[in-house]
Amino acid sequence: MIVVTRRRFVAGAVAALGAALAAPRPGAPQSASAGPPAPQLLEDLVAANHILVDQGVLDGYGHVSARHDRDPGRFLMSRSIAPELVTAADVLEYGLDSEPVAAAGRTSYLERFIHGEIYRARPDVRAIVHSHSPSVIPFGVTGAPLRPLYHMSAFLSGGVPVWDIHAAAGDSDMLVRTPALGRSLAQALGTRPVVLMRGHGAVAVGTSLPQVVFRSVYTEVNARLQAQAIALGGGHVTYLSPEEAARAEASIAGTLGRPWELWKRKSLGR
Ligand code: MN
Repeated sequence: MIVVTRRRFVAGAVAALGAALAAPRPGAPQSASAGPPAPQLLEDLVAANHILVDQGVLDGYGHVSARHDRDPGRFLMSRSIAPELVTAADVLEYGLDSEPVAAAGRTSYLERFIHGEIYRARPDVRAIVHSHSPSVIPFGVTGAPLRPLYHMSAFLSGGVPVWDIHAAAGDSDMLVRTPALGRSLAQALGTRPVVLMRGHGAVAVGTSLPQVVFRSVYTEVNARLQAQAIALGGGHVTYLSPEEAARAEASIAGTLGRPWELWKRKSLGR
C-alpha cells in the first residue's frame, strides 16, 4: 500500500515537472522557435568557440553568440559548458530577454544577459563574444586606456570604454546576472566594437562571427603588446593616428576571411 502511494507520488511529481517545463515561465516568451538556423551559421558558431580557446581568448569560461539568421529577435548560444566542448547539439535559441526558447532542462550561462541586451540595443550586431581575455584585465583596472598600437587592432581607435559593475550595482559577485546589468553594460558599449569590464573581462561585438572572433583575438594581442610597449618605452608609445586607424581598418576588413579560414580549419582538425 505504501509502495503504491509512493509510486503515485513519484508519477505525480514527474508529471508536474513535465508540466512545469512545458508551461511558460513568468517573464519568459515561450513562442515557437524561429526554426533551425542555417547550417553554416551553426558550424561557424561551434568553430568560433573552439578558435577562441585556441587563440587564448577563452578558457573554461566565456561565451560566443550569433543572432539567428531567421529572426533578429532571437540569438543562438551554447548551453552552459566550457567553450572547447561546444558542439552543434549544445546550441540553444534565446529570445532578446536572454531566456531560452526550449531549454529542455539544459542550463544557461549566468551572464547570458550580456548578449540579449546588446542585441536589443545594437541592431547592427550579429555576433558577440564575452571573455576573460587575460591581457585586457590590467586596462580595466588601472585607468590606462587600451589603444591601437598596430594595424591589426585599428578597430580599437576611437576609444575602448570601461564598464564598472560597481557603479551599476555596488558590491556584487561581478557577474552580469540580470537584464538591468546587461542594459547597463550595453549602454557603456554604446556604438563601439569593444567594452572592457572592470575586474572581469571584455565584450566584443561584430557584424559576423569571423569579425567578432578577429576583434576578440586582436584585442587580446594588442593589450599584450601595449603593456610590453609601455614597459619598454618608459611610458612613451606611438599609437596609430585616427586617420591611420581608419585606413588600416578599411584595408583589413577585406581580408578577414584569411585568418578565419585558417583558424576554422585548425579547429576542425583537432
Ligand atoms: Mn564573465
